[in-house]
Amino acid sequence: MIWRAFLFPRFHLISTPTPLEKAERLSKEFGIELYIKRDDVMELAFGGNKARKLEFLLGDAISRGCDTLITVGAYHSNHVRLTIAAARKAGMDAYAVLTPPGEPEIQGNLFLDKLLGGHILYAGDRDEAEKIMKELAEQLTSQGKKPYVIPGGGANAYGVLGYVVASLEIMQQLYSLGKKPNYIIHATGTGATQAGLVLGLKLIGVDEVNVIGVSVGRPKFESEERILKLINECARLMGVDVPVSEEDVKVVDNYTFGGYGVITKEVFDTMKYVAEKEAIILDPVYTSKAMYGLMDMVRNGEIEKGSTVVFIHTGGTPIPFQKMSDLSKYLE
Ligand SMILES: *Cc1c(COP(=O)(O)O)cnc(C)c1O
Repeated sequence: MIWRAFLFPRFHLISTPTPLEKAERLSKEFGIELYIKRDDVMELAFGGNKARKLEFLLGDAISRGCDTLITVGAYHSNHVRLTIAAARKAGMDAYAVLTPPGEPEIQGNLFLDKLLGGHILYAGDRDEAEKIMKELAEQLTSQGKKPYVIPGGGANAYGVLGYVVASLEIMQQLYSLGKKPNYIIHATGTGATQAGLVLGLKLIGVDEVNVIGVSVGRPKFESEERILKLINECARLMGVDVPVSEEDVKVVDNYTFGGYGVITKEVFDTMKYVAEKEAIILDPVYTSKAMYGLMDMVRNGEIEKGSTVVFIHTGGTPIPFQKMSDLSKYLE
């Protein structure tokens, strides 16, 4: 029934499949077979997981005749950058409400948001941001525009479709190599990526893969509840009945290092280690924390030696350039 995901309107933003890279040196270090799914390698404005969700979100927006996107995120948000970029590709206008308040330094994603011509507004917190988005949508409507509001992280049933489709792409790449993965590990924020992967694997009929989301901030149970809800919403949208239960949704929350966006020496050290071993650049908000989690789970035996593991590099390429002062202080 996974084919149903392909029937939804979709606006082409990226070429797939993205590369699946064997991480030879890390595999040797960890005693596992590690593949890295390079969702950071995409042609749309430095890429990342949000581009997959946006193909379906824009498909829906365009099919409804909308001409302006409105979304929300942190000031280093990859989702905001890619939403503005996607709007540009579709010839649309884009507004983003950023939190926390005040105008931070114009670097990294925020620089790109402005370069891409997004209209940037600031809010003190998420509640205020929601209020501003609602008022903005009303104002634009009264001016004859047709706004389309995208939730933070693109986390709704349409966004989830992006990783339903990606789950098939990943399995095709692995099966073509004659490999069966035991684990898929990635950073979890809003949960839409994990929801798509878990739902997609169920629909393909793959039962033996353990998907583990490494939370970048939210507590485990809150994340798992959100993910289960997104799975059910997407299944309803697709018109499929899938027996996804709580056991299928696994999040670990012991690698947040003080919370969303907090950068510590361990986070930097993981970036440095992976850069030196594989010449792969991680970001300090999402992918470095997820990789730390993977390494720790191998160390403590939660992931058995000899396992075949897929790490999804979900993007975030501009973030190191935005958080340079937090990172470069750790360079010797
Ligand atoms: C948004 C984001 C995530 C988290 O994805 P969710 O679908 O929100 O859970 C992970 N990595 C990067 C680089 C992101 O930008």
